[in-house]
Amino acid sequence: MKSLKTNLSTLIFATSNANKVKEVNNYLAGKYEIKSLKDISFFDDIPETSPTIEGNAIQKAQFVYDNLGYNCFSEDTGFEVAGLNGEPGVLAARYAGPERDAHNNMQKVLDGLIGKENRSAKFITVIALIIDGEVKCFEGICEGSVALTKQGTQGFGYDPIFIPNDYDVTFAQMNMEEKSKISHRGKAMKKFIDFLSN
Ligand code: IMP
Repeated sequence: MKSLKTNLSTLIFATSNANKVKEVNNYLAGKYEIKSLKDISFFDDIPETSPTIEGNAIQKAQFVYDNLGYNCFSEDTGFEVAGLNGEPGVLAARYAGPERDAHNNMQKVLDGLIGKENRSAKFITVIALIIDGEVKCFEGICEGSVALTKQGTQGFGYDPIFIPNDYDVTFAQMNMEEKSKISHRGKAMKKFIDFLSN
């Protein structure tokens, strides 16, 4: 019999990405205590081999549930650029190579769009929650466009080249509160929190 070591006021976030932990903590502060994989002394990479964002989110949560025995949630984010036929897509982290370098990834997107008119892009986040073996998913999408150059120093990943619709600055030119109000992760988190509250 599996021993489940948390209750719902302590949530294990199946990630070791400190930026994601910071953003998610921003939403859940005061309501839930978040523990990342580092907090439970797990330092290995979790397999992410699914061809879909939802598949990867579920895979990460299921891995932690099956191997470490925790109820938990995970999230996976993809970045789809229309002028690049949907690339980087689900492979966003390693778009420019296995070293997962954010600046090289962004440069590859910018180079790929040279001479193309359509700069539309979107982020898609899926949060997967697993409780007692039952999985539930929550999706958030943020539509926008790819900037002509990298702008701003806040945030992480592709933030310096993404301008959300109805704005004229990149995510990296916003503070975390501003980004969180309109971001893919923010929208998925809202659905997640509504579910937890009910
Ligand atoms: P993953 O969900 O950790 O696999 O992330 C996929 C890729 O998207 C990584 O390169 C991340 O840095 C990037 N990414 C994830 N979330 C965001 C975000 O909110 N803004 C910009 N880039 C992101």
